[in-house]
Amino acid sequence: MRPLIVIGNWKMNGNLAANREWVQIVCHGMEKGMPAGRRYGVCAPYPYLAQCGELIQTCSLAFLSLGAQDVSAHVSGAYTGEVSASMLRELGCTYVIVGHSERREMHQETDELVSEKALQALDNGLTPIICVGETAVERNSGRAVEVVRGQISRQVSILQDRLADCLVAYEPIWAIGTGKVASAQVAQDVHRAIRLQLAEFDEDVASHVCILYGGSVKPENAVELFAMPDIDGGLIGGASLNPRDFLAICQA
Ligand code: PEP
Repeated sequence: MRPLIVIGNWKMNGNLAANREWVQIVCHGMEKGMPAGRRYGVCAPYPYLAQCGELIQTCSLAFLSLGAQDVSAHVSGAYTGEVSASMLRELGCTYVIVGHSERREMHQETDELVSEKALQALDNGLTPIICVGETAVERNSGRAVEVVRGQISRQVSILQDRLADCLVAYEPIWAIGTGKVASAQVAQDVHRAIRLQLAEFDEDVASHVCILYGGSVKPENAVELFAMPDIDGGLIGGASLNPRDFLAICQA
């Protein structure tokens, strides 16, 4: 049985005061009781990881885990501006997003680099959240599943059975930050295709890997999405900035 996992991605947002209030509201809300068998996380910008980690630890119940939004593919050395997986682990991170479409597009990240980052994360005890997804042009030309299958197959070829310790996030690029959510059935169809492709590699891995949906998830559409058999939770961007909306999605 796969758990339901909800992870917030703050992107380049937040400040010391707002982060404090966010963690307080979310933790207090979670302490009142959450559905069983779920996991939650928040991926904060690098400079706020230590602050958020400390704030989360003051929650009386450890519901919420900390995550980062990217990680270096290197262990250490002359990589100005990069942050290693061991540093993230030391700061208390559990999760790290790799291959978000914004990084693939703005920083020319390839599937190979994304896999290298995932391996670094795994080697340091972190759970990578590997993002895949098609553009609007690819979807409109009927190639959505083909594109996502290509991304997954390149991850499989490098990560092999280590994929069992990763999360996959299906994030159609046309739905990210646009308010255009994929319908629950459209998302389910791609999630099913991802799972079937993983099963071609290893049926056990396929049945265990959690596949999250990301792209304009809100409290109003989360219930329908999370009810789908191959949707195991969500990666939440914009709506995770509002602690009450994030909490409502976690409870969906
Ligand atoms: C994201 O960037 O991972 C994301 C899902 O964003 P949003 O929820 O704002 O569409």
